Amino acid sequence: MSASVPARAALGVFPTPLALLPRLSESLRGPRILVKRDDLSGLALGGNKVRKLEYLAADALARGCDCLVTGGAAQSNHCRQTAAAAAALGLGCHLALAGGRPEAPSGNFLLDLLLGAQIHWSGPDRKGERIPLIAAELRAAGRNPYVIPYGGSNEIGALGFVAAAGELAAQLGAAGEQVDAIVFASSSGGTQAGLVVGARLHELRSAVVGIAIDKGEAGEGPFAERVLELAEKAASIAAPGERFAPADIVLKEGYVGGGYGVVGELERRAIRLAARTEGLLLDPVYTGRAFGALVDLIEKGEFTRGQTVLFWHTGGAPALFSYASSLI
Ligand SMILES: *Cc1c(COP(=O)(O)O)cnc(C)c1O
Repeated sequence: MSASVPARAALGVFPTPLALLPRLSESLRGPRILVKRDDLSGLALGGNKVRKLEYLAADALARGCDCLVTGGAAQSNHCRQTAAAAAALGLGCHLALAGGRPEAPSGNFLLDLLLGAQIHWSGPDRKGERIPLIAAELRAAGRNPYVIPYGGSNEIGALGFVAAAGELAAQLGAAGEQVDAIVFASSSGGTQAGLVVGARLHELRSAVVGIAIDKGEAGEGPFAERVLELAEKAASIAAPGERFAPADIVLKEGYVGGGYGVVGELERRAIRLAARTEGLLLDPVYTGRAFGALVDLIEKGEFTRGQTVLFWHTGGAPALFSYASSLI
């Protein structure tokens, strides 16, 4: 990457493991399946947001901020990892969480409390809509907040996944592997934007295939366009001169089922399959859905024997416990 790429705070454990899932490939009679274990990224039960937060938190420190502010769903993995990053760096943390305080804290929300985050219940706003309001209140109270958008998906956060593609390229090179496609859950877009830029920069020669796990909200504009815009912004920092086109953003949008966070048969089946054939835990909201989509694509013949597909495990298993009643 160019010298203008911002600093990175050491928060996670990298590189995350790269492993083969032979029993899964066999049971699906499909392609070789590799898994990139970002669920093992190390900070407070791991997940993909740690990569983004290494850049975002470094920026917050460089600007002399004293707290991080972000938001999301009540079971947001991003919010839990942000709370952990703040704790590890001695910063305060304010989270705008959807809904109202549950009677019994569980899953990610329980961890937010243990990590010392201050919670701002936000009713129907599940994508951090109240972040600017909270930041303004903090400024008025003399604090210096650092605002992290929903999912950590701005050009600085996306740099984490530009670097992740480089990490993967080194692992594949050392193992003498080449993958035909990289498949993962895509929601706020920073993971996909970073991977698209990073795959180009590090010459991965793999299709980068996002599985949309959320329906867009009215007024947000098409998701693929937002990912493209984010990729262009991240490239302006990490890969100046590289240009991206709509064809670079491959999104499968037919798997959103009952909507964000609603577990259906696709997710249940995928979670059980990965657990029972490989001892691999997926999550109910993101990786369960994305892996279910991958199984469907294999069953439809889009990925076949002789190919190698990499499933990027983006984390999320801490939410399993709060979804118990829809999983079994
Ligand atoms: C946030 C998240 C994603 C989606 O990543 P984006 O960069 O927001 O698209 C996927 N999986 C898990 C477990 C997540 O928490």
